[in-house]
Amino acid sequence: MVTVIRHDGPIIIGAGLAGLCAALAAAPRATLVVSPFPLGTGAASAWAQGGMAAALAENDAPALHAQDTLLAGDGLSDPAIVELLTREGPAAVHSLAALGAPFDRDADGCFLLNLEAAHSRARVARVGGDGAGKAILAAVIEAARTAPHIRFLEDARLTGLIQDDNGTVGGVWLDRDSEIVAVLAQGVILATGGLGGLYAVTSNPSTALGEGLGVAALAGAAIGDPEFVQFHPTGLDVAADPAPLASEALRGEGATLVNADGQRFMPHYSGLGELAPRHIVAQAVHAERAAKRGAYLDGRAALGERFPQAFPALFAGCQRHGIDPRIALIPVAPSAHYHMGGIVTDHHGAATLGGLFAAGECASTGVHGANRLASSSLLEAAVFGGRAGRAAAVVSGPTIRVPKTPYLAPKLPAEGLSELRRCLSRDAGVIRDAVGLTRLLEAIDALENRHGRAAPLAVARLIAQAALDRRESRGGHFRADYPDKAAEAVRTLTTLQSPIRQAAE
Ligand SMILES: Cc1cc2nc3c(=O)[nH]c(=O)nc-3n(C[C@H](O)[C@H](O)[C@H](O)COP(=O)(O)OP(=O)(O)OC[C@H]3O[C@@H](n4cnc5c(N)ncnc54)[C@H](O)[C@@H]3O)c2cc1C
Repeated sequence: MVTVIRHDGPIIIGAGLAGLCAALAAAPRATLVVSPFPLGTGAASAWAQGGMAAALAENDAPALHAQDTLLAGDGLSDPAIVELLTREGPAAVHSLAALGAPFDRDADGCFLLNLEAAHSRARVARVGGDGAGKAILAAVIEAARTAPHIRFLEDARLTGLIQDDNGTVGGVWLDRDSEIVAVLAQGVILATGGLGGLYAVTSNPSTALGEGLGVAALAGAAIGDPEFVQFHPTGLDVAADPAPLASEALRGEGATLVNADGQRFMPHYSGLGELAPRHIVAQAVHAERAAKRGAYLDGRAALGERFPQAFPALFAGCQRHGIDPRIALIPVAPSAHYHMGGIVTDHHGAATLGGLFAAGECASTGVHGANRLASSSLLEAAVFGGRAGRAAAVVSGPTIRVPKTPYLAPKLPAEGLSELRRCLSRDAGVIRDAVGLTRLLEAIDALENRHGRAAPLAVARLIAQAALDRRESRGGHFRADYPDKAAEAVRTLTTLQSPIRQAAE
C-alpha cells in the first residue's frame, strides 16, 4: 500500500544546515522538509565545533580566503566556485547572526575569529568556544519552524527518487515507519549530509551513511570525486562510536601533537607543524601510531586551567572517558570526518538530472577539490543551501505519475553495514593501495549479492573504484603504491554505471 502526497513546491531531504537554509531561501514557495528524526538530531551540522570560516576580519579578504581554499584543494577545486563561495561568505555569516546565531564577539561587537589549519588569517567565527554547530542550527531551526511556507515530516527516510522516462526527477520515495510514501514535488533538493558512518572509525553521526548520494547515483546522477574522504587527524582514541573529536581550534590555540615519549612529531612531517593541512596531520598521526610510537594532543601548557571554558564540549568528552586534559595527554587517532566528493552540482545546486538539486556535504560543488579547508563546510552548506533553495523554488512543470510498482530499495542490514564499515576503514582509509582497493571491491560485490544494491553499497563502490583508478596521491587520497602527485590535476566525474562497467571489464 502506497500513500501518495502531492506537494506543489520543492521537497528537501535532510534538516541540517544545508537543508534548512534551502528551505528558508525557497520562501514564499511552499516547501516540505523531510528528516528521519526530530529537527536538531541526526545532523552533523549540530556537531560542528570549530565554527564557520569567512573573510570577516579587517586584515582579510575573500581573495585570500579563496587562495587558501584552492591551496587546500590541491589542484582540483573549481576557482570560479571558490571565488563565489568566499565572496558570499561574510554575508552568509551575517545573515545567520541576524537569525539569532550567537557568534562570539569582542567588546566592540566584532566577530571573535580563530586561526585554524591552512588558513592564512584568523577567520573562523565561533560560538561559545566549540559550540558553533549546535547554536547556529538552533537559530536556523527556530526561524524555519516559524516560517509559514515550511512544513516538516520528521519521521521519514528517503529510499529512492521518482523519475519520468527521461530521468527527470519529480518526487521521492520515503520510508515512514515502514509505510511506503510517494511524494510528488516540484524540485527535489538532497541535503542528506556526509558518509562517515560507512567507516568503522568516524566523527559523524551514525546516520551519515551517504544515502542521498547513493540514491542519486542509483538514479543516474553524475558523482564527483567520490574517492576524496577527509580523515580528521584528532579523533579521540577512546573506543567510542562515533569517536569524539578534538577540533583543529585546539591546535590553533597552541596545543601540540606528541608521541608517547612526549616528543613533538609534526615538525618532522611539515614546516607548518600542527597547523599543516589536515591530510598531512592525519597521515602523520597514522604513521606514528603504525610505528607504535602513539599520538597524543597536549593542551596542558597552551590551555591548562582554561580548558573547560575554552573547549567545553571536548572537555566533557574527555571527562566521560576518564581523561582530564588540563593535566593529561589526550590519545588521538584519524577518523572519517568529511566527504569532499558528492552529487555533481552547478552554482545553483542543480544536479545533472532535471528537477534534482543537492546542497551541503552530499553535494560536489567543486569547492573542496582533493581536500577541504577547515571550517568551510558550514559555510558551503549555508551559501549553496540558499542558492539551491532559491533555484528549486522556481521549478514548475507537469507533475509526473507515480510508478505503478513502488520502489523498494534494499536496506543494508546491521551485520552487512558492520562488515562494510570494517572493509572501508581497512582498505579505503588514510593510506590505500591497489591490493586493498581490489579486495574492497570484491567485498562490496559479495555484500551486494547477499543484500542487493543498497545505497551505502553503491556509495562504497564509487569510493573504491575511483580510489583504485586514481593512480596518484593528492589531498585526502594517499596511495602507498603511487605516492607521487600526477603532473595534471584531473577531477573524477563518474556515474554509478561507469565504475560498475569498469569493474566488470
Ligand atoms: C564532529 C564534527 C565537527 C565538525 N566541525 C565543523 C566545523 O567546525 N566547521 C565546519 O564548517 N564544518 C564542521 N564539520 C562538518 C559539518 O558539520 C558538515 O559538513 C555540515 O554540517 C554538513 O551539513 P549538511 O546540512 O550537509 O548535513 P547534516 O547536517 O549532516 O544534515 C543531514 C540531514 O540529512 C538527514 N538524512 C540523512 N540521510 C537521510 C535519508 N536517507 N532520508 C532523510 N534524511 C536523511 C540527516 O538526518 C540530517 O537531518 C564537522 C563535522 C563533524 C561530524
